Amino acid sequence: MIRLGRLLVTSCFVALLSVPGAAFAQQDALDRIESIQTLSEQDNTRALKELHAQAQLFELSKFYEVKRAYLATLISVEIDARRMDAANNAITQLLELAHANKDDIGVVIATARNATLLEFGGKTAAAIIQLTSLESVALRTANPEALWRFYLALGTAQDTSGKFEAALTNVLKSLDYAKARPHQSEASVLRSLNELNNVYASMKNEAKALSVIDEALVIAKKIGAIKMQGTLYLNRGNLYSSMEQMDAAVDAYQKALKIAIDAGLTGTHATALNNIGDTYLIRKDYPRAEVMARRALAKYQEGGNLSGVATAQSNVGFALMGQGRIKEGVAEVQSALRFMHDSMARADEEGILDELARMYAQAGMYRDAYETIREQQKLAKELFNADRAKSVATLQEQFDSVQREKQIELLARENSLKDAEINNRRLQQIVTVLGALVTIMAGVFMFMLYRRARKANQKLHEANKQLEFHSVRDPLTGLYNRRSFLELMKQRAPTAGNGRREDANTDGLMILDIDHFKHINDTLGHAGGDTVLVEIAKRLRSTVRDSDMVMRWGGEEFLVYSPKASAVHLKNLAQRILKVIGETPIEVGEQSLTVTVTGGFLALPFSGLTEEQCDWEKAMQIADMALYLGKVNGRNRAYGLSRLLVPFEVAMPVLERDISAAIKANMVELVEVVGLVSPSLPTTRPAAI
Ligand code: GH3
Ligand code: MG
Ligand code: MG
Repeated sequence: MIRLGRLLVTSCFVALLSVPGAAFAQQDALDRIESIQTLSEQDNTRALKELHAQAQLFELSKFYEVKRAYLATLISVEIDARRMDAANNAITQLLELAHANKDDIGVVIATARNATLLEFGGKTAAAIIQLTSLESVALRTANPEALWRFYLALGTAQDTSGKFEAALTNVLKSLDYAKARPHQSEASVLRSLNELNNVYASMKNEAKALSVIDEALVIAKKIGAIKMQGTLYLNRGNLYSSMEQMDAAVDAYQKALKIAIDAGLTGTHATALNNIGDTYLIRKDYPRAEVMARRALAKYQEGGNLSGVATAQSNVGFALMGQGRIKEGVAEVQSALRFMHDSMARADEEGILDELARMYAQAGMYRDAYETIREQQKLAKELFNADRAKSVATLQEQFDSVQREKQIELLARENSLKDAEINNRRLQQIVTVLGALVTIMAGVFMFMLYRRARKANQKLHEANKQLEFHSVRDPLTGLYNRRSFLELMKQRAPTAGNGRREDANTDGLMILDIDHFKHINDTLGHAGGDTVLVEIAKRLRSTVRDSDMVMRWGGEEFLVYSPKASAVHLKNLAQRILKVIGETPIEVGEQSLTVTVTGGFLALPFSGLTEEQCDWEKAMQIADMALYLGKVNGRNRAYGLSRLLVPFEVAMPVLERDISAAIKANMVELVEVVGLVSPSLPTTRPAAI
């Protein structure tokens, strides 16, 4: 029945091919391609031949959809024929064509098939990445074929990479899209079911896997998908084998074998024989195992499947060893091992070594068993490490996807905490900086204030000093001025005047006036007069004691205050003053002048009187009157009153009014000091006068 169908299709193509260059209508071409697809499920080799034969016609079609359908079919058929380079070529063509036509359906199909190629090449992760990035595009096409291809490829890749849950979800999606396909729906459902079985097997859900196989077998039989039936039976055998149900396993393999033999499927044929041989080996039925292994070997050789050859060869070897034909068996096994080693089939190599060691032990060849075990363990360790790295990566990936959201949330929380912390720290820094700035500015401000204050203070101090100097000193002569004497007398007042004081405890007051000073001024000019004032001041200062105080009392009048000066001391002082001034002429310009002074003096308290009876002002008044008496009596002399000779009440009224009368009436005791020189009046008048 199936064979008949295939023949009909073939003859149909032959008829069409007999009209070369005929312009196919679009639908005709599409129908033709559909037919080849249907054929491919039944006989892929034949479908491939048909496609190749008609390639030019489809490629030259002016309809894009025809070209796309052709290339999509070609890719599948080439992949099923395990012609990966050719498949890759077709994928590239489809991709370019789809891009040129801005067709997402073509892009998605090409990418999905490319993922299948990547997976065959061991690049499963790359396949998943490519597919995942294309999911939104695939969904946008809303095209069942594209979506079926897409989710089937994605699910398969995820199954391979150990993401079984995701694989299950996506394979189930592919199943839905397969059912929605207007054409090739059952063939597509079948392929999805086969992958679904693989996923359940991966998940160790043998019951589910087996029921999916049952379901798939119904469809496979219905559409005549022979090769798929063989594959499904082989899968069923493997499931039973892993469940250690050897009879059921052998039964399934036998069914696969029968189909393979009937349909001339060399690969399935060889694998079925080999797997049956395996079950015999497990059951230590070595003669049967040998028969099966040799048949598998021949079939593998027929199909040019070298790794299959090696597998079958090792089984032959074990079967021989099991039968005691050790040397022969070992030779076969070693040959298989060499091939596996050279072709880098490390997992297979390790499995064979493991089995070989067991066979040596069984044969009592413990030394060989030991060595083989060591070899096997070395390889197993390498594989384990590689495998562990792979599985750790896979686990990590799975863990990552589960944990990512949590981590993101944690990171977000941590980040917001960090942000807050950073903000807080920044605020603290700002506060600190501001604080420091304020402190520094305040410091600078204070320093400036302090400096200014200090400067001001210094200036003030200097000004005060100056002021003080000028307030107490006469600017021309540098002598104390009248004000300083008044200050001194103010300070003196509270302590003085309480009762009588001994002579040595009196303070002398002597007032002096330059004789004929007006005349000096008139003849030498005011400046000349000043020079005389300065010189006389100098001479007075040099004559008095350190403790004495010389003042410029006014114009050309001076006052000497001599603390703790007795009447005798005052008399001597008057003599010294008259001498120092009068006996040495004063040089004024070219003039040399003999200048004299007249003075009046007395001690305070005067004649034991109290402050109330005779204060310093009254005493000054009396001294001034004595000075006047000196002027009257010829100048260059000093008169002093040493004491009252009559009671105070009697003497004072007269004395205050007329000193001469008081002297004449013997009310006071007079001391007279007379200068030796007579003043030499300046001879030359200034030109101006
Ligand atoms: P007597 O001998 O009677 O004192 O005569 P006299 O010329 O000195 O008279 P009196 O003492 O009254 O004269 C004071 C004069 O001193 C008046 C004034 O012109 C002068 N005089 C006052 N102060 C200064 C001064 O600072 N410089 C100068 N050059 N002359 C002054
Ligand atoms: Mg005078
Ligand atoms: Mg005078």
